[in-house]
Amino acid sequence: MDKNQIPAIGIDLGGTKILAGLVSGCRLLGEPVKVPTPKGPDKIIDTILDIIAQFQKDNIVLGVGISTAGIVDPNSGEVLGSTGNLPGWEGTALKTIIQNKTALRTVVENDANSAAYGECHAAGLGYKTCVIMVTLGTGIGGGVILQGKLYRGAHYAGGEIGHIKISMDNRRRCTCNLWDCWETYGSGRGLQATGWELLGGVSEAQTPLAAKRDRLTTQDIIDAAGSGDIIAKKALDLYHEHVAVGMVALCHSLDPDCFVISGGMSKFVDLKQLKDLLADRTLPRVSEKLEIYPSCLGEAAGLVGAGQLVLDAVAEVEQVSVAG
Ligand SMILES: [Zn+2]
Repeated sequence: MDKNQIPAIGIDLGGTKILAGLVSGCRLLGEPVKVPTPKGPDKIIDTILDIIAQFQKDNIVLGVGISTAGIVDPNSGEVLGSTGNLPGWEGTALKTIIQNKTALRTVVENDANSAAYGECHAAGLGYKTCVIMVTLGTGIGGGVILQGKLYRGAHYAGGEIGHIKISMDNRRRCTCNLWDCWETYGSGRGLQATGWELLGGVSEAQTPLAAKRDRLTTQDIIDAAGSGDIIAKKALDLYHEHVAVGMVALCHSLDPDCFVISGGMSKFVDLKQLKDLLADRTLPRVSEKLEIYPSCLGEAAGLVGAGQLVLDAVAEVEQVSVAG
């Protein structure tokens, strides 16, 4: 087998499920394996080791890449930052544990960074100066890729774009405990909060949504907007404004070639409307050639990116040894 085609195992460790698959050429080979995330670090590690062993039964692999929530030191592979979705996970020396138990080259990377890396390279955008991925879900995640490489920042918290402060009036508290972070407006939770605010003092005669005010879901708002409800449409328009405002901050700090928009909320975002908003709110030079692309990997982005990070790390070592 051509060495360039030997795959890596990519594993995406999420709060509720673990997705894993073989990755080669920034593509997922076959269907991913999906298992529920067990409770507690020891059980999670056992599950990851089981998955690796299963893949190794039938395949030769170059290494394993793990995408995980939390801030990760990519050199030590340790999970540094808190991860609300995975209690007790902080402080886990994940790379050392997996590498020692499997003897496979192991890369551990933050989930949003892994996804950004996967999306950027799967779309053939690795040659661009700056690609920013924005994941619109329950919160907002992101990753910044500069000339094909992840930008991790001085404290491995680069790309934590969901916590850009977008307002000064301390109205919405973020899960991080800061006020008015971008994700308190531009995420699914943000859209819910906007709907709730707009429905204050509105009667059921004006909109049927008023009856649901305290248990409003994003889907309620989307459905009502689709059937012409004026308040729901206003919430959705405001949502686009809220998504745009964080992107405007990113445009003026990093001047990207393009954004890739992914995540569960991205299907409700009209990219044309978003592009027009950015054109209105940025310096012309910044937005003239700016592109906004939808995700091409979907929920496989994290595992594909993590797997590709290992493949690229191995290739880099080989290049250095050939050159030396
Ligand atoms: Zn925050």
